[in-house]
This record gives sequence, structure tokens and C-alpha cells, in this order.
Amino acid sequence: MLDTASLNNILNQPQKIVITTHHKPDGDAMGSSLGLYNYLIQQGHHAKVIAPTDYPEFLWWMPGNEEVIIYTEQTEQSALLIAEADLIFCLDFNALSRINQMGELVRESSAVKVMIDHHLEPEDFDDYRYWNINACATAQLVYSFITDELQRADLINADVATCLYTGIMTDSASFRLPNTTANVHRIVASLMDAGAVNWRIHELVYSNASENRLRFLGYCLSAKLEILTDYNTALIAVTHAELKQYDVNTGDTEGIVNYALSIAGIKLAAFIVERKDLVKLSLRSTGTFPANEICKKYFKGGGHRNAAGGQSELSLEQTIEKFKQILPEYKTLLIQ
Ligand code: 5GP
Ligand code: MN
Repeated sequence: MLDTASLNNILNQPQKIVITTHHKPDGDAMGSSLGLYNYLIQQGHHAKVIAPTDYPEFLWWMPGNEEVIIYTEQTEQSALLIAEADLIFCLDFNALSRINQMGELVRESSAVKVMIDHHLEPEDFDDYRYWNINACATAQLVYSFITDELQRADLINADVATCLYTGIMTDSASFRLPNTTANVHRIVASLMDAGAVNWRIHELVYSNASENRLRFLGYCLSAKLEILTDYNTALIAVTHAELKQYDVNTGDTEGIVNYALSIAGIKLAAFIVERKDLVKLSLRSTGTFPANEICKKYFKGGGHRNAAGGQSELSLEQTIEKFKQILPEYKTLLIQ
């Protein structure tokens, strides 16, 4: 493992840098990546953000977004950049399987690998690690990495601040999850001082829905919501045909699970969606209920205690059945 002084030394010379993040990037994945990107380019580095897959349109406005490369669309160029990189920053993930086929390319690369992340149980593929599961967002860690480790608070300009604010806002569910500490608010205040316009960012991310997204949300809530009263659990499951019917795009399903969790007394909410090749689960929970444990144990996934995800190769119907059959195991936790 490298120490901070050695990493700082490397960063004192212009380097070829790849920044990557988990597949189907969310606000924190893109916010932390572009925040770091906007920081690094000020120092003359040749930096590129490579997203393993596409990501929702409500994130396309962020500064630097026009320079992002999507691996599935520009595979050869991505592979070349990874092979030639001096440094690879891995943000908001800690297992190479989270970046799909890019994982092997990163593993094989001789670049110095830097992990900045807040998920449990990191895999051992990095040379430098800035990792804290108590952080509410990877963007929060990128902020303290720049200000505390690299001592370059002076380079947090409006572009960096705007991206990092977006990451913190989205991963903390608009500053309301328990890990939104007083220190997070102090960081957010300094991002505003540096030029992040809070109300505008909120508007760009959350008031940017298509008519389809809203109608699909309405359909999910009125026709598809199932309450499992005995287990304080709410469930929404949608078929591939329903996605097609509402012309649902990447990102349109994001956040729907939170509506199910917002019902009084509900401790666990699941959004189960039949994608083209597999069934994807999103779980959310309140308090100490370990949503990530269910995802890890039964659905080849993981995540945070209150926000986790996984997948299933069973049919949608069978996946729903499997999910329901798991609940008795957790009954005491769910009804307490
Ligand atoms: P979402 O429900 O928004 O897709 O994911 C919520 C969180 O669960 C993500 O931030 C990520 O930490 C985790 N997560 C989602 N899907 C997976 C998965 O397939 N594997 C793992 N390890 N974590 C996942
Ligand atoms: Mn995150």
C-alpha cells in the first residue's frame, strides 16, 4: 500500500489518469467521479472518467459530463485508456465485479490503483485506499481526500463543488439519512461557499422527470404496490412488458422504492424489476434492519444497511416468491 505522501508525490507531476465508478452509475458515482475529474484537470493531469454503462439523463448536466466515456459504447478507447493509465481512481465501489468487463482490464493494468469508497468489505485490488463506511457519500470522501489528505482546499472550485454537492445530496437522500452528520452539513456549506448552487442542483436532479416517469411512478403506486402487513414490508414488482409499456428509460425507476418505504410502519421496501436478462432487486430499510444482508445472502448483491441491491436469475414470479419466503427469517427484526 502507498502512503499519502507517495501518492501526493505522484500527483505532483502530470499523469494519465482514469477515473471509474460502478455500473449503472448513480448521483454519487458520477458526482464523486466528476468532482475528482474537475479537481485533477486543474493540475494539468490528463484525466478521463469512464463509466462502465450509461446513466440517467438527470445527471448529464454536471460540469465535465461531455468528456465522460461510456465503456459499453466506446469499448476500444476505454480499454486503451485503462491500459495506458498511470493511475486509476476507483470511486464508489470496492469490488471489481461492480464494473463488469472493465474489472479484468483494471486488475491487469499496471497503474497505481486508488480506491475511494464507503461500501462494506472492500476487495483487495488497490494500492492506496481512502475508505470509510460512515461517510454518507463517496463525494464526501473525495472532498476530505482533497482538503485533508492532499491539502488542496484551494482547488475546490465551483465545478468541483457542484459535482460533490450532487453526490452528497443524492446519496444522503437529500440530507436525511442518519449518516448526514453535522460535519456533512459543514462540508456542504463549504461547497456552497465554493460555488455550488444548492437549489439549482436540487432542481436539476429532482425536478427533471419526464411525463413517462411520473405516469410510471403513479402506476407502480396505484396498481403494483403490495403491503405484507405481517412483516412491515412493502413490495413493488414490475415486468419487462410494463417497462416497455411506459417507455421507461435508465434512471426512471430510481427512487420508486423510497415511496414504498415512506408508508408509516414499513421497515423494509423492495422494488423488483424484470430487466432484459435478469431480475434486479432494490431494497431499502429503516433503522438497523440489514437490507444488505438479504441481498448478499440470497441475491448475489450487497450495499449499505439501509440501501442495498442484488439480482436473481429466476423468473420475476419466482424471485418475488423467494423474497417472500425469506421474510419469516427476519420477522423478529421486522415487527419489533
Ligand atoms: P440500488 O437499489 O439503488 O440499485 O442500489 C442501492 C445500493 O446497493 C447501491 O448504492 C450499491 O451500494 C448496492 N448495490 C446495488 N446493486 C448491487 C449489486 O448487485 N451488488 C452489490 N454488491 N451491491 C449492490
Ligand atoms: Mn455512494
